[in-house]
Amino acid sequence: MNTKLDSLTYYAATKKYDLRFPTLSEDIDADVVVIGGGFSGINTALELAEHGIRNIVVLEAKHLGYGGTGRNGGQIMAGIGHDLDAIAKHVGEDGLKEIFRISNLGASIIRDRIDKYGIDADFRNGYAYLGFNSRQEKTLREWEASFRAVDPETEIQLYTGQEVRKVVGSDVYGSALLHMGGGHVHSLNLLLGEAQALAGHGARIFENSPVLDVEYGDRVTVRTAMGSVRAPKMLWACNGFLNGLEPQIYRKTVNTYAFQLCTEPLPDELIERISPIRGAYSDIRPIIDYYRVTNENRLLFGSATALLDYIPGDLKAWNRSLMLKVFPYLKDVNIDLAWGGPLCCGANLFPQIGSLPQHPNVFYVQAYAGFGVTPSHIVCKVLAEGMTEGSARYDLLSSVPHVDIFAKDQLRAVMTTAGKAWNQLSGFWKGRR
Ligand SMILES: Cc1cc2nc3c(=O)[nH]c(=O)nc-3n(C[C@H](O)[C@H](O)[C@H](O)COP(=O)(O)OP(=O)(O)OC[C@H]3O[C@@H](n4cnc5c(N)ncnc54)[C@H](O)[C@@H]3O)c2cc1C
Repeated sequence: MNTKLDSLTYYAATKKYDLRFPTLSEDIDADVVVIGGGFSGINTALELAEHGIRNIVVLEAKHLGYGGTGRNGGQIMAGIGHDLDAIAKHVGEDGLKEIFRISNLGASIIRDRIDKYGIDADFRNGYAYLGFNSRQEKTLREWEASFRAVDPETEIQLYTGQEVRKVVGSDVYGSALLHMGGGHVHSLNLLLGEAQALAGHGARIFENSPVLDVEYGDRVTVRTAMGSVRAPKMLWACNGFLNGLEPQIYRKTVNTYAFQLCTEPLPDELIERISPIRGAYSDIRPIIDYYRVTNENRLLFGSATALLDYIPGDLKAWNRSLMLKVFPYLKDVNIDLAWGGPLCCGANLFPQIGSLPQHPNVFYVQAYAGFGVTPSHIVCKVLAEGMTEGSARYDLLSSVPHVDIFAKDQLRAVMTTAGKAWNQLSGFWKGRR
């Protein structure tokens, strides 16, 4: 990993849980072994524990939240996947409706989890999707109707013209769809709170324990440098950090990158001007700017390169220039931190869950395409159903096929640039540009 991307994050600098887990140093047995200590691994394990499975082992290569889970914008958005039309032909009209219904569960799963286990994760409601032009305003009107149809109880309201300033303090937008069901969260504290809950169910978590080798069979054997775990079921939950250990799923994704900055703490009046709702935001372009305020009055601002796929030399300066296009009045504000990380994407930008064709006891979850805080909570709930008693919605989500991405290592930047170009172009007729 590029060292700039690995710089200190806002999340690591403000984490409230001092959890440390040992390195695996013996040979042990388990009912389920999970590889990867991000939202996917910990959430699926916690769901399994809530299904009554006690002997669960989670192996994390570095520390919990080392991956995207400890680097993201903390945005709790509606939905899973980017463009459900891309999967319509595989799941049919009814399947699509069911996926749209499932998609709406995410924020409530997070909120319930926080309440149930008393997790201290700065959860806050209030999300606005932002449009620059009339085409995007039309799209937001359509979204408003769709969101209301699945969630009639929640405050969902479109603002246009000068009214937009009631939601966000920027002159660049012409419309804002406020969705009070979404919001933002301190993702690392959420993960660590969930991990603490998981340990409370009796699961064993090991950090600094990279998996080096896996032997499949009725009982899978997972080996690290100093120990092993044998279990009848296993889960790959390494997302953009998989590094080729399981080629069948590795070749179905490719990484692109996103970058974040965090400002110094700002005066109350400035925060009130930026975000009267103290919420989270993203525009609806194919490559979004996304930002939110934090509990300590900082602004977190993130984005990805719009076309050419590259890692900017100076992440602070790169993100700052985008931030100033939206909020020019922040020109004298100091940028305290900047970091980045991989967004693991499949060709259809839809999350991938299932089990390996020849090994029905080996499960996987990956490829949230930069959009995993809420979706991982939904998808992993469904995955845990698939790993236990089975469910119609597991069958539905796991039925979506995912193509191999040819020469993903050799041609990564070329392919992600081509993917961005296609998304930018199709964004016009999808009403997102
Ligand atoms: C900069 C950035 C901004 C983002 N912003 C948002 C946002 O605002 N909203 C949103 O919804 N999503 C966002 N995302 C995406 C979201 O964070 C991810 O989709 C989500 O966290 C993925 O969780 P995960 O558990 O699948 O993967 P990860 O969190 O990446 O965890 C995978 C883990 O697997 C471990 N691992 C890998 N190989 C091995 C091995 N051999 N042995 C043991 N462990 C291994 C890794 O060390 C890592 O900890 C963002 C991502 C980035 C990078």
